[in-house]
Amino acid sequence: AAKTGGGGDHRFFALEMEEAAQARRALELDLREALTKEQFTLHFQPLVDLRTGRVTTCEALVRWHHPIRGNVPPSVFIPVAEETGLIIALGEWVLNRACVEAARWPKNVKVAVNLSPVQFRERGLALQVVAALAKSSLPAQRLELEVTERLLLEDNEGTLAAMEQLKNLGVSISLDDFGTGYSSLNYLRKYPFHKIKIDQSFTRHLGTESDTHAIVAAVASLGAGLDKIVVAEGIETEEQMKLVASLGCNEGQGYLFGRPMSGEDMRAHLEAANTGKALVA
Ligand code: C2E
Ligand code: MG
Ligand code: MG
Ligand code: MG
Repeated sequence: AAKTGGGGDHRFFALEMEEAAQARRALELDLREALTKEQFTLHFQPLVDLRTGRVTTCEALVRWHHPIRGNVPPSVFIPVAEETGLIIALGEWVLNRACVEAARWPKNVKVAVNLSPVQFRERGLALQVVAALAKSSLPAQRLELEVTERLLLEDNEGTLAAMEQLKNLGVSISLDDFGTGYSSLNYLRKYPFHKIKIDQSFTRHLGTESDTHAIVAAVASLGAGLDKIVVAEGIETEEQMKLVASLGCNEGQGYLFGRPMSGEDMRAHLEAANTGKALVA
């Protein structure tokens, strides 16, 4: 684009905007096709009890493989799915697949499913959950739903009512990515969370920043006082694992324990390794 004289920058900028909008429309179209063309799969990643080494839960993480684009990361397509409302159908698919898969695992392992705030605004969420449990014969006690602070920003009675309804079904709710958003201590009191997942950005800086250290310790003790399970996300090293355990976290998740893997690999992993062995002496 020409960048000469008055208005040139403007025209250049307008062109870039138009290109970005077109790229987004193309992505949206591909995303609409992806569900019917069965391009989505689920991967699962273990959450491990730091005292016993046992896998307590596996988190379902959606994957999109497009024939031309290749693997598109959730950080790219989830926001588009949310803006277009496609997340409702995608979220329902994830919920159903995750429950079917989990029903084949040892009975002491739960499955965690990420929920978008957009799904929460939909009236049919509890019904979707009931249907997914019924179709898979998975007991409600083996399903965890993960929400982020983004959902609580709106802080309305509808959100609280929907959570209470889910909790009454026997499903538990985790607060994901804690500490990255608009962390309000009031959220922990007001909403019926069972788990608090400390975001991986804290774990990553544990060795180098003493203030992160203090934050993780504070959240762990807060969680203990409120009778919640505290999980440290993004554990990649032995040192991080020992540190978060010593600071009082109950569970860990991260590449050290296992990368996201197919449901079939997870089943084999659980059958072989879930006898439990001590991780921290
Ligand atoms: P999340 O729920 O916090 O999931 C954890 C993310 O951290 C996953 O990224 C996982 O692969 C990554 N991770 C786990 N351990 C480590 C580690 O040790 N090091 C590093 N660097 N990363 C680690 P992923 O799969 O790319 O998903 C990103 C986000 O996309 C998720 O964050 C979640 O917010 C969203 N997402 C994924 N699947 C779904 C879904 O089915 N529905 C909805 N609504 N959102 C989803
Ligand atoms: Mg999550
Ligand atoms: Mg998370
Ligand atoms: Mg995250």
